[in-house]
Amino acid sequence: MNRQQFLLSILAIPALAKLPIEIDIDILTGQIAPVLRFGLQKEPSKSFEAMKKEAAKAKIKLHITSGYRSYNKQIEIWNGKYDRYSSKGLKGISLIKKITEFSAMPGTSRHHWGTDADILDISVLQPKNPLEPSHYVSSKGIYNRLYEWMLHNSERFGFYEAYTDDPTRTGYEFEPWHYSYKTLAIRYLKDYNRNVKLSYIKLPQLKGKELITEAFFSEYKRDYVNGLNPYLQ
Ligand SMILES: [Zn+2]
Repeated sequence: MNRQQFLLSILAIPALAKLPIEIDIDILTGQIAPVLRFGLQKEPSKSFEAMKKEAAKAKIKLHITSGYRSYNKQIEIWNGKYDRYSSKGLKGISLIKKITEFSAMPGTSRHHWGTDADILDISVLQPKNPLEPSHYVSSKGIYNRLYEWMLHNSERFGFYEAYTDDPTRTGYEFEPWHYSYKTLAIRYLKDYNRNVKLSYIKLPQLKGKELITEAFFSEYKRDYVNGLNPYLQ
């Protein structure tokens, strides 16, 4: 088989043919949205729908409160928190660390990929601040049934908790609402680590950008972007 025949034979395999060899950097960093269906790419979205049906049997109503998010949306969140925490007197790296307890630097969020979602149960009375770990893990928490159900069932549908409560995990705090569609997200992470450079994401409108140096970014990639459930690495 010559090279051309070999390439044609690869392209004839449907699963491979659909996947680009490398994911566009603008998609990895939230500048361009992938093709979406209810906030997720098609494959995770279909799987989410199947999981939702299954959860409904246990009287749990799964709902994606946040799926795909663009770079622009993430910068609104980031700059908003930057202003809020600086008005409380935080400065420099401690301000950045405070933002990154729960929020990603724009251009580094897994929500840019259409593979990740923050999931709630809308069959219960919604609290004011749904993204609060105690709602999930405390036995009296409003989302405790959801959390337990997801622990036992989500992986069957390809969804894994990204930011677990494992004390050895680095980066963001425990986020018992955030799930990743493993097979797709692993490919995105791999390309992210390989191809995304600081210059693609450090745009003029990013507040605190003078603190985001090359050294900061390389540590951030190691500790935050890769500070994940080992099943997602
Ligand atoms: Zn999230």
